[in-house]
Amino acid sequence: MVLGSGFAGYALLAGLRGGNYDITVVTPRNYFLFTPLLPSAVSGTVELRSILEPLRRRLRGVRVVEASAEGADWRRRELECRAAVGEERFRLPFERLVIAVGAAVVDYGIPGVRQHALKLESVEDARAVRRGVLDRFAAAGLPGLAAAEIERRLTFVVCGGGATGVEVAAELQDLLARELAASYPELAPRARVVLVEAAERLLGGFDQALADYARRHFAREGIEVRTRTPVAAVESGRVLLRDGGEIACGLVVWAGGNQPVDLVRRLGVALDERGRIQVDERLRVAGRPDVWALGDCAAHGRPPLPATAQVAQQQGAYLARALRRAARGLEVPPFRFRSFGMLAYIGGGRALADLPQVKWSGRGAWLFWRSVYLTKLVSLANKVKVLFDWLKARLFGRDLSRF
Ligand SMILES: Cc1cc2nc3c(=O)[nH]c(=O)nc-3n(C[C@H](O)[C@H](O)[C@H](O)COP(=O)(O)OP(=O)(O)OC[C@H]3O[C@@H](n4cnc5c(N)ncnc54)[C@H](O)[C@@H]3O)c2cc1C
Repeated sequence: MVLGSGFAGYALLAGLRGGNYDITVVTPRNYFLFTPLLPSAVSGTVELRSILEPLRRRLRGVRVVEASAEGADWRRRELECRAAVGEERFRLPFERLVIAVGAAVVDYGIPGVRQHALKLESVEDARAVRRGVLDRFAAAGLPGLAAAEIERRLTFVVCGGGATGVEVAAELQDLLARELAASYPELAPRARVVLVEAAERLLGGFDQALADYARRHFAREGIEVRTRTPVAAVESGRVLLRDGGEIACGLVVWAGGNQPVDLVRRLGVALDERGRIQVDERLRVAGRPDVWALGDCAAHGRPPLPATAQVAQQQGAYLARALRRAARGLEVPPFRFRSFGMLAYIGGGRALADLPQVKWSGRGAWLFWRSVYLTKLVSLANKVKVLFDWLKARLFGRDLSRF
């Protein structure tokens, strides 16, 4: 039984397909979501449907139970589940269990984040951010507003200068500079994107020179970057900063980092200091025979591997190979992560590529970024759809209908 249909779970299920296994996946979503292109769905550069893989179509032979796991009864080897639709609760017996439930956005206990900020980890979130931006433009266009109020409504604050926050800010600025500027010529010049980061610099995991390039590029594009600026609280209509300042704004997107989902705490397994499931070099959960944990919810190695799609995908593919080998009585080698580097879109047709052999930025890196994601998208159908989305956005502009 596999919990979760994200990068780790999907790679595992795809790798086990066709084997002689009785596989059940328990997941609240009946699709796999290609998160690296989720920021592009906020601006409408790609359509959401183009980055979803329907599980039942792609993984024939796998039983899909649309539910969330809420706990495990280890003695009976049963999972306690809640239906994704409706309130029904039920139990599912398992022989072997793979936990690949990902992570959730963390607010570090900062007041108001949950109530007043939008996050970006799901299809629903991408829709809400997109809709939120268009709503603010509609609200700012009402007659009789004071100039300061128009500017407040059109200030979009992104909190968190990691790759996700940077990409969201870049996509919002792209939308502002092109489609919104054309459709709201009187309002768009008064709109601004502010990127707030608590640390010294943006893109902590990236090469310093690339992060500096992104910052200079943002300055040219008009994105206001504030580093060393921890957020103290988020309220309706403003972000309060720990240095005593505040930013009056219409919309806040929180991209401050991740923490394990609630289920992980409830499983009663060994966790690391950040609350992730401790696994050994073969991704097995200590003290639980035939239980593995993969992806963002697992801590593998010292220091633990980063919470990225690349790690999760490789771990899922590894476990599929490992289970196949074990079934044939062969020795299972330990998991080894191979880093292919990191990529980030920074707007205006430019990207960063922090690769093991080369550090690359600008237009060439952007073409590389696009070609990598095109190859990484799972199905041919989605590769074609994303390619057409890019072409459509280029030729006809992104759609601004508010629905
Ligand atoms: C906007 C955004 C952009 C990103 N961009 C990049 C990028 O460019 N490059 C990169 O390497 N990484 C990127 N990431 C990170 C990447 O998405 C994660 O590291 C990766 O998805 C982790 O895979 P996973 O399988 O562990 O978890 P996920 O892909 O999050 O999948 C978790 C699965 O578990 C399911 N689930 C959750 N709770 C339960 C439960 N209780 N019971 C059953 N199922 C459950 C979920 O529905 C989901 O199907 C990005 C993330 C976001 C949010």
